[in-house]
Amino acid sequence: MPGTIAIVEDEANIVELIKYNLDREGYRTISASNGRKGLELVRKELPDLVILDLMLPELDGLSVCKQLRSEPQTKSIPIIILTAKSEEADRVLGLEMGADDYVTKPFSPRELVARVRAVLRRSGSMEEEEQEIIENGVIRMDLRQHLVKVRGEEVELTPKEFDFLKLLLLNPGRAFTREFLLEHLWGYEYFGDTRTVDVHVRRLRQKIEKDPATPEYLETVRGVGYRFRGE
Ligand code: CA
Repeated sequence: MPGTIAIVEDEANIVELIKYNLDREGYRTISASNGRKGLELVRKELPDLVILDLMLPELDGLSVCKQLRSEPQTKSIPIIILTAKSEEADRVLGLEMGADDYVTKPFSPRELVARVRAVLRRSGSMEEEEQEIIENGVIRMDLRQHLVKVRGEEVELTPKEFDFLKLLLLNPGRAFTREFLLEHLWGYEYFGDTRTVDVHVRRLRQKIEKDPATPEYLETVRGVGYRFRGE
């Protein structure tokens, strides 16, 4: 799956146009019709990229951009802003606030798709260079070599366990619901049972915890899901 794209735009016909063209390319699209909802959507879904209109009701696009850039969970999600030709000052401000690129309305769908692809490619390669090693407590993950060490000992993880552990380590202290984990790790088209998540948690605990029955790291959050208790 090439990735999830969040579209924050109040004009329904523009949302439709973008959705149609991105869906066709295999992206998963989600959308919100005002700035406040957009912010909530991005925080909840952590998409791979955000297409953000600047003129939005409730909370304008620049404020959304600024807010996303100030939060640890969302600060590295690429943002492409949509602006009208007349909003040049806002466009510059948007880029200064951390947007990765912009597209001027009216735009050709082909151009937008090309920008999305380019921004994703750029952010993907940057992430790899920046984040090769993730370390937390006794766990050390080498992302490039797909190698995991716990208390200095190498452990074998399946690709899914690897992605799961990576997500947890990158977000210490954050409680994830089973539904979010299912959607995020298995893809939204996977209508699996949330027990799939529990099974993976159990297996991960066996691999990373000293005593899987009393986990120190991969905690159960009652009524919610799971959390990695890290440093
Ligand atoms: Ca608008």
